[in-house]
Amino acid sequence: MTAGRTYLDWNATAPLSAPARAAMIAALALTGNASSVHAEGRRARALIEDARDAVAALVGAAPADVVFTSGATEANATVLAGAWDTIFLTAVEHDSVLAAAKTQTGQIVDLPIGADGCIEIDAVARIISQVPAPLGRAVLSLQLANNETGIVQPVADVAAVARVHGVLMHSDAVQAPGRMALDVGRLGVDFLSISAHKFGGPKGIGALVRQAGAPLPALLVGGGQERSRRAGTENIAAIAGFGAAAVQALRDLTAIDQQRARRDTLERRVLQLTPSAVILGGGSMRLANTTCIAVPGKAAEILLIKLDLAGIAVSSGSACSSGKVGTSHVLRAMGVAPDLARGAIRISLGPTTTDADIAAFLAAWTEIMSAVAHAA
Ligand code: PLP
Repeated sequence: MTAGRTYLDWNATAPLSAPARAAMIAALALTGNASSVHAEGRRARALIEDARDAVAALVGAAPADVVFTSGATEANATVLAGAWDTIFLTAVEHDSVLAAAKTQTGQIVDLPIGADGCIEIDAVARIISQVPAPLGRAVLSLQLANNETGIVQPVADVAAVARVHGVLMHSDAVQAPGRMALDVGRLGVDFLSISAHKFGGPKGIGALVRQAGAPLPALLVGGGQERSRRAGTENIAAIAGFGAAAVQALRDLTAIDQQRARRDTLERRVLQLTPSAVILGGGSMRLANTTCIAVPGKAAEILLIKLDLAGIAVSSGSACSSGKVGTSHVLRAMGVAPDLARGAIRISLGPTTTDADIAAFLAAWTEIMSAVAHAA
């Protein structure tokens, strides 16, 4: 981490972990194309299959069900492009899900989100059975944990309802690895998307976990890579880094309570220092590493800049990829008042976050808030 900086934006991207870096450097020395039958090719193939085993173990899947992609955006796009007649979605999904669904010709049916940020589970069966047009080939996409608020959705319960109605189930689980237990079998999903860079792996590599038998055409066709489920010569170094990060993420999970304790301390102190602050989604089941805080009357972009100048990296609720600071569609879907939503900042911790990082954030917060109070 850069000296003098405190990185609290792990939901945007996690620092590359030491094991992932080492695995990537070792893989860069390999020459072979994994499709070649010679010794060089076989070495590259072995490295890919070792990484596949590690990723499969991370999500409780069979290795044959793991398809490497360029990241979760591609994994989500692959699922949504599956020639569906009906796609069920919530308004809190990541843009890569919402935008991919909009490019499709099938009908899109919204599932309601409550003020607690969770899907209204009681409405799901009714809505599925009342869709006016025939369902045809149908999929329901529900994220496992939200990138802005950390709110965890009852994916297993919704998957059970979907199954009864013959609707296949996809979950964007990008924010889950290393932060909560993840098991495709227990979740009961047909498709699951993850991305290495959210848990210590490199950017530009992810996976679509596709349960055996779940029908889905390939998005990228051409070569027979990934059992013809995703064409293109494999990025061996990225896959090796992904595998090493997956092993590390399972270990990190055992220390998740430390992240929760630090996050809770941060929230407690912020509320003491700034009694008008609101923890958005604070009453819901959340990831242990995430908090989304808004102070009435304070604009997120100003807070972000002041925190950045003080050496602290956090992000606004909505800025995941574009660097934009706009009103969050997630908070809007939860019915958060626009004035409050405009002030939402997301602070996200990781396995190497220390008490000193939390103290640095709180020192900067205290200074920024007291300067504001003096100016008022
Ligand atoms: N889904 C969620 C919930 C995310 O937070 C992100 C983050 O960028 C993505 C999908 C996209 O993942 P990737 O960066 O691998 O394309």
